[in-house]
Amino acid sequence: MQELTARQVNLSDSFWSPRLAVNAQKAIFHQWEQLEATRCIDNFRIAAGEKDGFREGWVFADSDAYKWLDAASRIYMLQADPELASVMDSLIALLARAQARDGYLFTYNQIHFPDQRWVNLQIEHELYCHGHLIEAGVFHYEATGRRELLEICIKAADLLVRDFLNASNDKTCGHEEIEIALIRLYRVTGKEDYLELARQFVERRGRTPFYSLHLWGQFRSYNKRKEYVNELRKAYVAEHPDYASFRLPGGNFARKPRFSRERWYLNALPGLYAQQHTPIRKQTTPVGHSVRFGYLETAIAMLLRVKPDPTLLSTLEQAWERMVTGRMYITGGLGSAPEIEGFGADYDLDPEYAYAETCASIASLLWNWEMTFLTKEARYSDLFEWQLYNATTVGMGQNGDTYLYNNPLAVHAGVTRQGWYVVPCCPSNLSRTYADLGKYIYSAEENHLWIHQYITNETRVDVGAPVIIKIESELPWRGKIKIHVKPETEKEFEIHLRMPSWNTSERKGDATASGFDPRHSYYETIQRVWSSGGETLEFNFDMSIQLRHAHPKVKGHAGKVSITRGPLVYCLESVDNPGVDIFTAQLEPSSLREEFVPDLLDGIVVIHAKTTDGISVKFIPYFLWANRGESQMTVWVNCRQSR
Ligand SMILES: [Zn+2]
Repeated sequence: MQELTARQVNLSDSFWSPRLAVNAQKAIFHQWEQLEATRCIDNFRIAAGEKDGFREGWVFADSDAYKWLDAASRIYMLQADPELASVMDSLIALLARAQARDGYLFTYNQIHFPDQRWVNLQIEHELYCHGHLIEAGVFHYEATGRRELLEICIKAADLLVRDFLNASNDKTCGHEEIEIALIRLYRVTGKEDYLELARQFVERRGRTPFYSLHLWGQFRSYNKRKEYVNELRKAYVAEHPDYASFRLPGGNFARKPRFSRERWYLNALPGLYAQQHTPIRKQTTPVGHSVRFGYLETAIAMLLRVKPDPTLLSTLEQAWERMVTGRMYITGGLGSAPEIEGFGADYDLDPEYAYAETCASIASLLWNWEMTFLTKEARYSDLFEWQLYNATTVGMGQNGDTYLYNNPLAVHAGVTRQGWYVVPCCPSNLSRTYADLGKYIYSAEENHLWIHQYITNETRVDVGAPVIIKIESELPWRGKIKIHVKPETEKEFEIHLRMPSWNTSERKGDATASGFDPRHSYYETIQRVWSSGGETLEFNFDMSIQLRHAHPKVKGHAGKVSITRGPLVYCLESVDNPGVDIFTAQLEPSSLREEFVPDLLDGIVVIHAKTTDGISVKFIPYFLWANRGESQMTVWVNCRQSR
């Protein structure tokens, strides 16, 4: 299968195009302002010796600047905005000045510990930061054809090759990301060392002797270094009293279980938290921090696209199966253990404790896209769609300048959208995902075309001969799809249409913890000689309202349902239901009906229902909750006659 770039696909979708416009015109500039306001960019100016000041933010704050540059590049690829270009250019020039002569770029060490490098790989995310730098360089090059940033990245990557190729097994990053980046850089440069280093980083995981002791040592070093920096900061503030008023934004609020700290150590020390508990060929269960897990699986799958390995592929398939059947929320959200920002046990899916970080579902999108290529099975694109519409899109507010970090499925209080976070990993990750959306619709090879997503667009693909394809889709509100196929000359080939799992209502089943089962998705193949005059396929997906049940083993879900329609999960939000206790309301299932409301949240299908007491309630799509101020919300609701 070949993939297209987002630039090759001309989107004109009534649902997605306005969101991509908000992303390009508002979100990316809001994010830049926040990076400046929180002094993330100043850290590079200080490292370059151009500014006085104190370095601010977490050790890995550099990654936020790189991810912004990555997102900006992908947005620029779709539409060359000179204002965006000028901000990108100034940042790239600054990075060039801040980079050490040998390619090293990590402001925390450069500013505070100029003689120390790679001392704390498990905790300080030094390689993770270099990874995001490299990804930004690859996408900037692809977007502009210019090499300034790519050269910075090549210098950094060459340094990594020098310091890490054929190194010992403890030389891995605690937060996977560098692996994906090196594979991308390999794809652009063809330099085998990058691919080999990525392979070694992945294969080294779970092979550090006495990992717990190693990690414990890293904690101690991390804390010692942090204390030293805190002392430096105190001294700096004493000399610069006007600096004392500077505050970083707060962190995200997540409801956490008791003994969170102890639970974190219990997960981290055996290596589970960072997928260091066992070599990757034995990692058939999703564990630990769910963003890291997703990036690891993505990197392994990317390696398999270069060099197949049936053992590793089977490991990925088993981990995916375990995730989907036991460790995923109905929204596609990942991570039920907030104390580790990661996976809990099978069927451990408390809606209020759900962490389900936006970045975790984005990582899963990347992984599922790779799995599509490895297996040609529809289940992966099916999960992609579900996670895109629910667990991912929920992360960005309607106006592009507020975000959710963790995404619980029930909120009594405390979780709402914020303009920025002390760890702002999700906003730029969302922006780069939105900008890339066009690339996930098709794949093609000689005599075959796959249509994975139904988003209105026009493109030209190569199936051994050029074909113009146009999709008209009314998703997610209506199920009508039209596909125009027009080869340049008459041509025989197969079109494989993904039939969504949610379209097959008779097979809803309850084989998964969440009630959503992407394994019911399949490709419908249409083989024929397509005429050069153009032909149109038309079909309707089932958009009826579905009541889904959690698996009986999921605690606290007995007698409850979640309501879905098409690819969307719905929720009750208190702002729509004044005077109703949304957590105790009991639905009358026969009362459900839908209505398109043009003036609510830019036009949405709402679902009306009555409780058994005859009170009206109104459901909105989950991804839109928290756009009207702080409120309560629940996905799972009590329902009469349900289990
Ligand atoms: Zn995040």
